[in-house]
Amino acid sequence: MSSEPRPPASVPLSEPEIGGNAWAYVKECLDTGWVSSVGSFVERFEREVASYVGAGHAVAVVNGTAALHAALLAVGVRPGDEVLVPALSFVAPAATIRYCGAQPVFVDADPATWQIDPAKIERFLEEECDTTSAGCVDRGTGRPVRAVLAVHVLGLACDIDRIAVAALRHGLRVVEDAAEAMGVRHRGRHAGTAGDAGAFSFNGNKIVTTGGGGMVVTGDPEIADRLRYLTTQAKDDPLEYVHNEIGYNYRLTNLQAALGVAQLEHLDEFVERKRAIAYAYEKALRDLGGVTPMPTPRGCDPTYWLYTVLLEDATLERRKEVVGRLRERGIEARPIWHTLHDLPPFRDCAAYRIEHATLIYERGISLPSSVGLTPDDQERCIAALKESLGS
Ligand SMILES: *Cc1c(COP(=O)(O)O)cnc(C)c1O
Repeated sequence: MSSEPRPPASVPLSEPEIGGNAWAYVKECLDTGWVSSVGSFVERFEREVASYVGAGHAVAVVNGTAALHAALLAVGVRPGDEVLVPALSFVAPAATIRYCGAQPVFVDADPATWQIDPAKIERFLEEECDTTSAGCVDRGTGRPVRAVLAVHVLGLACDIDRIAVAALRHGLRVVEDAAEAMGVRHRGRHAGTAGDAGAFSFNGNKIVTTGGGGMVVTGDPEIADRLRYLTTQAKDDPLEYVHNEIGYNYRLTNLQAALGVAQLEHLDEFVERKRAIAYAYEKALRDLGGVTPMPTPRGCDPTYWLYTVLLEDATLERRKEVVGRLRERGIEARPIWHTLHDLPPFRDCAAYRIEHATLIYERGISLPSSVGLTPDDQERCIAALKESLGS
């Protein structure tokens, strides 16, 4: 046995909180043999998510990325189309546009909300595109602009109402990436339910987890049918192996759905905890100076999924140094995502007037935000941040 003093356990960025009926429901799957992609928990999970978010239909899938891919296909995104997407986001939405053979057009973040900037979407559509009865065409590339993939980032909401109005005016579809926004509302409406389809993730770091999992919600029964069809191998006959299109094996298993149903029973509690964590950070940071706390966009009931701050006027090097110091102290801080438009797979894509996304990327640090974060551990995070800011 080593006699070395053990360093205090590190504080994770975002850990799942497993409890309640999770064991009982998963055991029920094991005891009954209903472990695969058909079963009562899948249907129940779909019904309960639909009801929680206020959507007409929900289709459970293997993960949030598959949810986005299926949603884009189901609303009619085709090879050669363009889809507007924020430059400041996790990579999955941009990747799924490419899965469809379409091209992302990256849009800047609004500095007041860190979300995709609706004013820049409007400006792009008005100044760079021609909208005719045949649809909206990017004048520069000649490609059809088919959809906006609006991402609600970090447990806040983007201004989806304004985006939906612009999309409607130009004949675009709207898909919402609400992977980080379970529990988030915008003007009273749950994230993911204002557009043609909305995608959720139940990855281990999200507020509700199934280990891995996702869900697409929609109010349109035709889109719902299309989603079910595409995610179950495009099966055209219940018995004979007839497939008239290429489909995907994207359905969630009953085992995972069982965990999801148990998790959902605690979602309101989890949201309360996340908010309390955010308020505690905000209170501590107010006096600190040099750090911009996370915004709360107007009309948004947030969850602050990952509590994120900006180091005022910091360079990329300075931000890297501060993240490094936090991690040395056992605090699992993380930089916000690298802007997408300047990553190698997307360098040939259009990027529309990007300024603020870059500044947020250079300065943003996400702090530990697990639902189970204890007040003591949060104190440690705050103290470590203070120390790490010292020069
Ligand atoms: C997590 C996440 C996804 C992908 O979800 P997975 O379940 O991990 O595939 C998509 N978009 C955003 C914004 C995310 O944060």
